[in-house]
Amino acid sequence: MPGLSGICAYSVFVLRMALCYRARVLFAKENVLSLDIISFFSTHPKGDFMERGKLRLVMGNMFANKTGTIIHAIETMRTFGHKKVLIFTPTTDTRAGKGAIKNYNGQSLRAVDLLANRPNNALRIIRKEEAGMGSKFHTIVFDEVQFFSPPRVFYRLTDELLRLGYDVLASGLRLDFRGEPFGVTLSLVGLCESMQQVTLLASYCAKCGNPAHLPQRLLNGVPAPYLSPQVKVGGKESYEARCYDCYELPGRPRAS
Ligand SMILES: [Zn+2]
Repeated sequence: MPGLSGICAYSVFVLRMALCYRARVLFAKENVLSLDIISFFSTHPKGDFMERGKLRLVMGNMFANKTGTIIHAIETMRTFGHKKVLIFTPTTDTRAGKGAIKNYNGQSLRAVDLLANRPNNALRIIRKEEAGMGSKFHTIVFDEVQFFSPPRVFYRLTDELLRLGYDVLASGLRLDFRGEPFGVTLSLVGLCESMQQVTLLASYCAKCGNPAHLPQRLLNGVPAPYLSPQVKVGGKESYEARCYDCYELPGRPRAS
């Protein structure tokens, strides 16, 4: 009969074997997914060495001209840099597709609608567009990145695009109406190599005129409570920019 120490040693051995097996399964899954995406682009001619692309992240408050900022960057790239740029915009329903990104005064650029909960569809669309024009894009743009979900899938998609040599320009809301991180936006800082690649845009407080970092949601003209849904698409009728002093959030839970 084995002693108590023998039983303990055997249990540790079994546990270690189980952990090793699980690690191998996870490792295999990661690599299969990764190889799938790489092979997606393998039909395109490319050099022996593909330099990793760069991420530029434009994030900030509502009414801070985020979309206007990326429209300016895209036009500069296209006009003066002769770069090929593909723009994606998230939709939750393709039937209501908008097909464009638009700034506050109506200036717009054509964009490809991408289902918000299927961000990886971007890979198929990029391949198809590139096959049609016979060359690769230089930059892939995503507007309103906070709506893409799950955030981890969008993060990995961005990493794959960078590894494949594309530059990525992403724009999104940093904080939701609760003043909390909104979707993937803040996480994308993890793919930047320098804070110079990050632009943080504020608006002006609708109450006092100071720099405003928070989107104040209004419900029938008064601040919406904390327990309202995170996503409620709207404009000036249901949101205004506010500074930290003027921002109100009824029902805000206390840190404990
Ligand atoms: Zn204020």
